[in-house]
Amino acid sequence: MGLLRSCLLSGLLISAASLPSWGQFNFNYDATQRRWTLRNSLVEANFVLTPEGHFRFEDFHSLRNNNAWTAYPAGSSPLQIHADGVLFDQNTPYRLVSTGRRQIPRNGLRYLIVLEDLDRRGRLFIEIEMYLQQPVLRFSARLRNVNPQPLHVTGVDILPLAIADKGRTFRSFNVDQWWGGGKGGNFQVNQDTLGEGKQGVVYSGAYGQQCSWFALRDAENFGLFAGWEFDGRAVGVVDHNPGKALLQLSVPVEGIDRTLAQGEELAIPAYFLGMYQGDWDEAGYVTQRFVEAAVAQPASDSRFPYVIWDSWNYDLYLDEATLRRNAQIAANLGIELFVIDLGWARQIGDWYADPRKFPSGMRALSDYVHSLGMKFGLHFAFAEAAATSPVLLQNPDWRSSENYHYFGADSLCLSHRPVREWLLAQTLRMIDDYNIDWILQDGENMVKQCVKTTHTHAPGDSNYANAVDGLDWLIDQVKQQRPKVEWENCEDGGNMMTYSMARRYVTSINADDSGPMTTRQAIYGASYPFPTRYMDRYMPNTQLTPYITRSYMFGGPWIFMNRLPEMRPQDLQLAASEVRLYKSMREHIREGKVYHLTARPAETRIDALESYNFATGSAIVFVYRPSAAPASRTLRVRGLNRNLSYEVRYQDSGRTLTMTGAQLLDTGIDLNLTAVNSAEIIFVTPEE
Ligand SMILES: [Zn+2]
Repeated sequence: MGLLRSCLLSGLLISAASLPSWGQFNFNYDATQRRWTLRNSLVEANFVLTPEGHFRFEDFHSLRNNNAWTAYPAGSSPLQIHADGVLFDQNTPYRLVSTGRRQIPRNGLRYLIVLEDLDRRGRLFIEIEMYLQQPVLRFSARLRNVNPQPLHVTGVDILPLAIADKGRTFRSFNVDQWWGGGKGGNFQVNQDTLGEGKQGVVYSGAYGQQCSWFALRDAENFGLFAGWEFDGRAVGVVDHNPGKALLQLSVPVEGIDRTLAQGEELAIPAYFLGMYQGDWDEAGYVTQRFVEAAVAQPASDSRFPYVIWDSWNYDLYLDEATLRRNAQIAANLGIELFVIDLGWARQIGDWYADPRKFPSGMRALSDYVHSLGMKFGLHFAFAEAAATSPVLLQNPDWRSSENYHYFGADSLCLSHRPVREWLLAQTLRMIDDYNIDWILQDGENMVKQCVKTTHTHAPGDSNYANAVDGLDWLIDQVKQQRPKVEWENCEDGGNMMTYSMARRYVTSINADDSGPMTTRQAIYGASYPFPTRYMDRYMPNTQLTPYITRSYMFGGPWIFMNRLPEMRPQDLQLAASEVRLYKSMREHIREGKVYHLTARPAETRIDALESYNFATGSAIVFVYRPSAAPASRTLRVRGLNRNLSYEVRYQDSGRTLTMTGAQLLDTGIDLNLTAVNSAEIIFVTPEE
């Protein structure tokens, strides 16, 4: 009855089995048992509406091995909402309104399950998805008020699963983001054995401390990972209580307070839950492939990640003539995107080109950059405005109650409706007038806490409202209306490393402009939860060495901040050849699996990252010798086939040798970097 009704309601519902390419999916609703089974070629998940009407997660298991995660016997709800003083959880009695499945973009299949609690407080629209050949489940929901009286939501747990531990022990793993200007966190990895008093804690979101992701695995290396799509603060906790045989996951949103009028809905942020077998590199790789397949904003250009030039080394002292000289040299170096950083506008918040700096107008410069074959981008700190900017002079109350004084400006409240509507108009005008291909979003804390009573959000709701109704809404609107424009995330560093960010932006800064060592440390950590194209970095140096250039090359985009007209000929020559090298490797690294071959980079030791590409069976290894590290060590390469023979080629020394996969995996290659602050790239390619 439920299925039939929803089929009639929505002409878009299809039978998955009727499409040959969908044979890898088996989504089945058993109306007698009221059980939903979701299966692709790799994993199966089950959810049930019990005879008492409780909606529960049952299990999530691999179809390839013994990796299995079963609900705690007392019951596990896949979502938890606190509204009108009552919890919607595993003990809430519901009735099924309707259910149906439908094909969704990016090779996905979705169950929609509509439930209403028996007290008829609210209607839940639950969406559970799987994607082709991804061992991952994605879950999201909306709560709608169906009554004339308001429904007051005060709590949401994004991922509240209770899992039976089955006598296992677990290790957990998560990664810091950039916070406190890099002093608080620079993508350090945190791992722990869980147990009494030892939880894995992820304080995620804008101005939080960790990326919105964690992985865990048992003693047999069967693992689970989770990520969530929310830019506001949420506190992920992985808690193993061996006494209760309980592994409890939870990700409560920190601060939500909204009143839904009749017909209004609240979107619960989505999470994904995936399985892997192996180490943390494998957890990262499976996460990254899923994020690329189903979540991340696709790059519009197969050349991505680009080589970029950015004006920040000129600080605020920009002018049209200098930028034209830089653009000319940049084009000759093979740079693909030319970005003007902070300082181009009349003021922060007054987003018109400063006529003293750009007497011919910004469009003339944009046209010139395009005529050189490059894309054109502008810096845009849209959540900030100078006190003397027209927008704040006319609307002093648009300020957020929390102020970060970004370059002396005041902070705006993004979810206050007039602010976001004004920002949308400004963004569209800038894009059209200046013919922009790329927006470098910058500023401080994109989800500010604002407790004003005069704004269109509730004073206690800005953590949710500024994230979802403010930031996400603005970028979604611009994406809808100007889909070709690409967005880069930056808050003086990667300080909003979430999968909501990845859904909207094509890349993110990691470390700020902070030198080769700090940059490599950031890349080391960020390359677990995020695809390598979310590791853009800023190279300020005018005098170059391979140690410098290669510290910025793994993943990307690679962003030159050099004052190009001041560079020596030998530096320009090195830059041009390194850009060619980068372009020859970027596709391999974009698609490849990252192996962390050494510990986190430090001045006293050699560090190395490998990218192994399954399509070609080849590996590229970046090796660095910092200032206080010894010259030599052996390094085992990973991912190779031990029965094959490989050509091992050193980019700089020109040395080439042949080794078997077994030798490379077991014994490794001998490194000898004779100079400090040097680097080498090693290509390992299977021989015919
Ligand atoms: Zn506000």
